[in-house]
Amino acid sequence: MSCQTAQSTQLNLNTSSTSSISLSQQPSPVSSLDFNMSSEISNPPTSSSLSSPDETQYKKVKLENFEENETKKLKSTHNSYTTKKLEDRIGGILCCTVCLDLPFASIYQCSNGHLMCADCFAHLLADARLKEELATCPNCRCEISKQLCCRNLAVEKTLSELPASCLYCESMYARNILDFHQKEECLERPTKCAYSQIGCNWEGPYHELDSHCHECVHPNKPGKEIIDFLKDKTSETNDDQLALNQLVNFLSFEKICFNDLQFKQYKTDEITPKLYFETNRFTAFNNHWVLKARVNDNQKNPNLTVNRYISFQLILKSKPNNPQANMPISFCILKGPMGEVQINPKVNTFEFNQNKTETDFLKLNIKASDCNKLLASKTINFRFFMFQP
Ligand SMILES: [Zn+2]
Ligand SMILES: [Zn+2]
Ligand SMILES: [Zn+2]
Ligand SMILES: [Zn+2]
Repeated sequence: MSCQTAQSTQLNLNTSSTSSISLSQQPSPVSSLDFNMSSEISNPPTSSSLSSPDETQYKKVKLENFEENETKKLKSTHNSYTTKKLEDRIGGILCCTVCLDLPFASIYQCSNGHLMCADCFAHLLADARLKEELATCPNCRCEISKQLCCRNLAVEKTLSELPASCLYCESMYARNILDFHQKEECLERPTKCAYSQIGCNWEGPYHELDSHCHECVHPNKPGKEIIDFLKDKTSETNDDQLALNQLVNFLSFEKICFNDLQFKQYKTDEITPKLYFETNRFTAFNNHWVLKARVNDNQKNPNLTVNRYISFQLILKSKPNNPQANMPISFCILKGPMGEVQINPKVNTFEFNQNKTETDFLKLNIKASDCNKLLASKTINFRFFMFQP
């Protein structure tokens, strides 16, 4: 097994709850003991040990015992087959071949029909890109890619009908309604007090909410205490809101431009080449620019890591129009029309001049799981906004 497969399997082993099912699916092999016994019986008696009547009798008994054992064994195999629930047996067959989990998301298959959950599929494709190899199915080693693999809707739908237990009340529900049950229906679902907005920290199961609200002291607190609490609360700045407000402010700038760009994959020409991404040159505010990106800040083997991130750098390629002056530029990467994942807005500002033409590497503001999705594709598409005051 290559380290790629081993790693992907290992990553997800702790989340796997169904590995035991798939492992125990194998019919029990004929044990060596039984085998010896049958060969002993079929051995023709040699002249030196020609059987006495007693011995023949003994062998006959042994043969009967053997047959009895075989019948028992057949019965017990049959029993384990029927005692194991159908859904467990199906789950063992339809689980992802990499993480052995039963995914809630899309399921892909190789051209030979081996199943992979969307996360593992993206992980395998990203691994291969980072290693500059063809991605292959961990089961049969046939090539896999977005073009060669397709989703298996029948498996997705079958899985959505399988039962799974609620996180809170442990009752069984079909997987396609489990989410709704856990969020909206379950009496054991964790709930906050109806007065949490004015300072009550109570949290408990939904069925205790009514009795708590009757006793809760918060609705009867004096307005002054509540106002103090609300003041504290609003001063806890919400990063996302702040970033969004900042972006909206930048949209009022006089000079704004955006370019739909692509990061393409390259390697440095050092002895141990490093992977990086670069866009074509583009024009903005009468200057030429280029963006570079790298994975995990050029860590040695990014394909062996579980947590991946992408950081990027803006580089001024032309001579500034006015060599003496600083040129402050604010910029932000967002998802473009061809983009595959959501990129959260984060505006950075940098003052370019003839000596300072490169920004630091800035982390792309995406979810960790989306990083593989970006790396899995041949090019990374995005929209790049620039603002100049
Ligand atoms: Zn998987
Ligand atoms: Zn395969
Ligand atoms: Zn429940
Ligand atoms: Zn309360």
